[in-house]
Amino acid sequence: MNTDVDVLIAGGGIGGLVTALCLHKAGFSVQIYEASLTLKSLGVGISIQPHGIKFLYELGLAEDLDKLGIRARATQYYSRNGQFIYEELRGLEAGYNWPQYFVHRGDLQLLLWKHVLEKVGKSSVVLGHKLIGFESFAEHIEVKFLDRSSNEIVKKSAKLLIGADGINSTVRTILYPDEGPPVWSGVAMWRGVQRVDKLFLDGRTMLLMGNPNRRKMVVYPINANSICWLCNVRLDGPGAKLHKTADWNTIGRVEDILPLFEEMKIDFLDISNMIRTTEKVWEFPMTDRDPLPKWTHNRVTLLGDAAHPMYPIGANGAAQAILDAQALVQCFQRYGPTVEALEEYDNIRRTAATAVVTSNRQGGPQQVLRIVDEHSPNGFKDIRDIISKEETDATFNEYNRLAGFDPNLLNNEPNVFPNDETGKNTLANDKQKES
Ligand SMILES: Cc1cc2nc3c(=O)[nH]c(=O)nc-3n(C[C@H](O)[C@H](O)[C@H](O)COP(=O)(O)OP(=O)(O)OC[C@H]3O[C@@H](n4cnc5c(N)ncnc54)[C@H](O)[C@@H]3O)c2cc1C
Repeated sequence: MNTDVDVLIAGGGIGGLVTALCLHKAGFSVQIYEASLTLKSLGVGISIQPHGIKFLYELGLAEDLDKLGIRARATQYYSRNGQFIYEELRGLEAGYNWPQYFVHRGDLQLLLWKHVLEKVGKSSVVLGHKLIGFESFAEHIEVKFLDRSSNEIVKKSAKLLIGADGINSTVRTILYPDEGPPVWSGVAMWRGVQRVDKLFLDGRTMLLMGNPNRRKMVVYPINANSICWLCNVRLDGPGAKLHKTADWNTIGRVEDILPLFEEMKIDFLDISNMIRTTEKVWEFPMTDRDPLPKWTHNRVTLLGDAAHPMYPIGANGAAQAILDAQALVQCFQRYGPTVEALEEYDNIRRTAATAVVTSNRQGGPQQVLRIVDEHSPNGFKDIRDIISKEETDATFNEYNRLAGFDPNLLNNEPNVFPNDETGKNTLANDKQKES
């Protein structure tokens, strides 16, 4: 049966774009249908761990990532009154062969678009087309899109369909019509980007402060002139009825958070001023979804947030979508664009991603902040009276292992495209440059 392409991808976010790049590189024909009418840099900062970066380097993004973002050196944890708790090294400094990056999410998406248009082709991305339905047949799948400009229905055929359409995925709703909206943690998140003349600390450090179960602040640089911040506030218990739609583009109000974060003080950053002088603030309810029993249904599967939306903890949301794309292309390399490939992808990735979703519900490595805050709300004399180094190290190591970024495992993992020079590890390249 002749189809328009091997694979149709619904959704041109980070997951969909990386999937298009790697499937094309492996020799399969792909086309992305994206609901948005235009390409705009949306969102604030995100952080991508070395396991995701390794694959982006293989896809030829190393140089561009260095221009776009910041190579992370460390994450530092502080109590709500600014007392230092713990420093966790990141990226190359933590022994990985690849850096961790802090970047603007929208800028990364635009960079990936550029690579897709250049490498896969100008017609590989169709904007303003929202997936509204699909039907599987013996040898192909027929997918229906609403052309939002003309209001007409467009039908396309492919061997397979990948639903990479985010936390409010239509593909997922069609597969699981009774699931309902995302599950709210009871925490509301406000986010913004502040323009600065000078970055704080060494310009490569993320700051985490407060108590994830009460009020938490995260701040990190995303380029030479901008820092991204997130304020989390618990408004209700886990599983409470969503107070706002889970829409990444909802505008927030500085007045709602400023009074709540005035108690947070730290000597190298004026937090109140940072919030007050940020031009635009967004609000999003911290949500995820209960893990699914199956992602693959015949000729359709889910990927990224459509498959496993998770709390933004541990710098994992985008990286897990990238790992999905990597696993998917490896299955295609083994089985071709077939139902078997999608089944194998489901087997490999669903359990792994579910473990991260579940761990993030428990707070991931940020549990350390909660423990310290609950035991010493007015500060501490010696952090070791509150939590031992062994307990802290064990929490971080366990999360790293579970989320798939154990440095020893990652550094020894073979490349997906072993005969390609593009993805040679940067540590080796950096050392060559220095010598
Ligand atoms: C506008 C926006 C802003 C975001 N901002 C942040 C942020 O500031 N911080 C953060 O941690 N995470 C943010 N995220 C989420 C983050 O991008 C993801 O958690 C992560 O990168 C995984 O990406 P994804 O590609 O699976 O999903 P997403 O990034 O959500 O991408 C899904 C894509 O699918 C498109 N789409 C949706 N429905 C359809 C449909 N029916 N047919 C076709 N296309 C469809 C969407 O327009 C979107 O481009 C944002 C997501 C979006 C869409």
